[in-house]
Amino acid sequence: MTSRETELELRQAVIDACREMAAQGINQGTSGNISVRTDDGMLLTPSGLPYDRMKPEDIVAMKWDGSWAASAGNVPSTEWRFHLDILRSKPEVGAVVHAHPIFCTIIAIMNRAIPAIHYMIAAAGGNDIPCAPYAQYGTAELSQAALDALRYRRACLLAHHGLIATGPNLRKAMWLAVEVEVLAKQYHGCLQLGSPPLLPDEEIDSILKRWGQYGLRDNDGALKIPLQPS
Ligand code: 13P
Ligand code: ZN
Repeated sequence: MTSRETELELRQAVIDACREMAAQGINQGTSGNISVRTDDGMLLTPSGLPYDRMKPEDIVAMKWDGSWAASAGNVPSTEWRFHLDILRSKPEVGAVVHAHPIFCTIIAIMNRAIPAIHYMIAAAGGNDIPCAPYAQYGTAELSQAALDALRYRRACLLAHHGLIATGPNLRKAMWLAVEVEVLAKQYHGCLQLGSPPLLPDEEIDSILKRWGQYGLRDNDGALKIPLQPS
């Protein structure tokens, strides 16, 4: 939360983003969930509540220890574990978007990563969008699988499930979610024609350097979170 955003504004921004997921065609029904970082934890969508009926007071406030408060009848999203774990372990992340976009999910059902078919793959921080192995929704196992897949990336697929996209704020996390679905659609299209040629790692590294995003650096310039395993 920035000092200019009140908690009420942030709750409304989460609801607006949920509705935008449907408008952008990256989600359907009550699938998916969204969180944003607050001073003492996160604001998170409630479980199973249709987005068109969601009001600011329905958004669940969860503290870093997993304790939560919500208005009557609402419980936190079943995926609260991975939202909390990602925000806890990645200080650069301010918002987490989870959805079941059609093309991301098709690639995830096939248990594939999206490879470097287009230079925009670098938007997720490296030369692919990895696919976390399957684990049942809402479990600690799924959270661990997502954390592993996101170690050097800002987005990942979840096998037989969908997509997680992160960002320093909600707007950027939403932008990345839409971009990854476009990449998944392009990859799916390429596969209809054969085995697509890929951009070499050096080209992705060069793009990351041009974007000034080659790893996240501390104030002293030391690489804090390398994008690629060393
Ligand atoms: P919730 O309605 O509990 O957020 O679950 C939706 C979902 O996508 C589970 O993976
Ligand atoms: Zn889901």
